[in-house]
Amino acid sequence: MPWRYNYLTALPHLCSEEIPQGLTKPAWILQNQQLADELSIDLNAPQWLTLLAGNQQRHKSYAQVYSGHQFGSYTPKLGDGRGVFLGERQHQQGFWYEVFLKGSGTTAYSRHGDGRATLNACIKEFLASEAMYHLDIATTRSLGVIQGNNKIMRDTQHHAAITVRVNQSHIRFGHFQYARWGMHNNPQALQQLLNFTLREFFPELACDQQGYQAWFAKVVKRTATLVAKWQSIGFTHGAMNTDNMAILGDTIDYGTFAFLDTYNESLIADPSDYEGHYAFNMQPAIALWNLRKLADAVDTLIDGEAMQSSLNQFQQHLVTAFLDHMCPRMGLARHLGDRQLLDVIDTWRSLLQQAKLDYSYSMRLLSQYTGSNSQQLWPQLTQLAPMKSWLQQFHQLVKAFDSNWRQQRQNYNPAVILRNGYCQQAIEQAKVGNLKPLQDLYVAIQRPYDEPTHAPYLSQPPAISI
Ligand code: AMP
Ligand code: MG
Repeated sequence: MPWRYNYLTALPHLCSEEIPQGLTKPAWILQNQQLADELSIDLNAPQWLTLLAGNQQRHKSYAQVYSGHQFGSYTPKLGDGRGVFLGERQHQQGFWYEVFLKGSGTTAYSRHGDGRATLNACIKEFLASEAMYHLDIATTRSLGVIQGNNKIMRDTQHHAAITVRVNQSHIRFGHFQYARWGMHNNPQALQQLLNFTLREFFPELACDQQGYQAWFAKVVKRTATLVAKWQSIGFTHGAMNTDNMAILGDTIDYGTFAFLDTYNESLIADPSDYEGHYAFNMQPAIALWNLRKLADAVDTLIDGEAMQSSLNQFQQHLVTAFLDHMCPRMGLARHLGDRQLLDVIDTWRSLLQQAKLDYSYSMRLLSQYTGSNSQQLWPQLTQLAPMKSWLQQFHQLVKAFDSNWRQQRQNYNPAVILRNGYCQQAIEQAKVGNLKPLQDLYVAIQRPYDEPTHAPYLSQPPAISI
């Protein structure tokens, strides 16, 4: 099956051709067999391992360039500093995926970096993106992780590895920032990028003023919807720089993420984010800020007032998507009205925070709630005075906690969440050659609503026993 190079052909000034540096003695650590089949890729064939480990240097490959606001300050030139695209490959459903080797060595955009990714980071990216996919949260996907014999230095010495990441597009908000401010010799670059984005990924829109405005409105809505789902599931991205915001509204770049264990609205996923710039509860405001930066980048092409009116709708999109996700989780009828619903959800989550309870596990316990066993399910909560009035309010809204209601809760509250602790345990075992815990974890995250049979410990965090 042939490769396609639409990005490289249409936007040669927004990328550079590169040769990957590859891994020595490459070996698969994780394989996404199903996705590979859908892309007609035979992961077990030696020639595919050679190609995906970055060792087939005659294959055309390239890195994309972009800018980015990182923790609030602008870096004019970033780009893919540790990886290359092999091109685009058609999925059996007809669309095309860009195939990216994350960790395949230095490129024109590496600055002082070594172009490499650690085995740790590659495994975490694979697991996180696949976990999000199976939770129905828009995300890049992973085809697999390949370990090399090469050693790289971080805090200590690590094995170098590659995650093979795929997505329909890797265009980031930062691409538009670069096309606007980084391309002095090509004033057409921004419009070329915008038209390419519409043609390829928003084919229902025309490349005219009306189409551009509709496109911006869609990006606002997709971004709000994505972040609303993060807030519902308890996902903290950790580095919401504009270069880590995908124009299609997918979660991209799993470098520093964390899923909530104990409910903590100000959880910081990146230990170097001392001020909590990207804390869990900051994510909606940061997403809106990033959208404003995107609007700034395209304001020579798209009417400012139209973009402002789309930005004004961000908050309502966020609330709608959040409630669409949270109400089924809590068995609340969506028609009760945003204000009342937000109130009951917020109070519940602040009670969890006060009692230092695990978020996903406490939510999952709703699937055992009969209306009269709160004492058994959440003993720490019933000791809190406001819990009584919260339960009264909850009862008024739900009315019947029958078996049907309970059954439904199981379908919306995952039993399996990719906890950092379990991820780390599986990685440590993988490093000493025992891949079983990692395989079990991978199996479990693919069926997040089932009680895991391979790894029964996943349904609750290790430190809490109920
Ligand atoms: P990230 O924090 O992963 O979003 O990366 C921010 C920027 O730094 C991107 O341009 C990356 O390509 C680049 N980068 C991150 N790690 C490395 C590395 N080890 N070598 C070269 N560039 C890197
Ligand atoms: Mg990045």
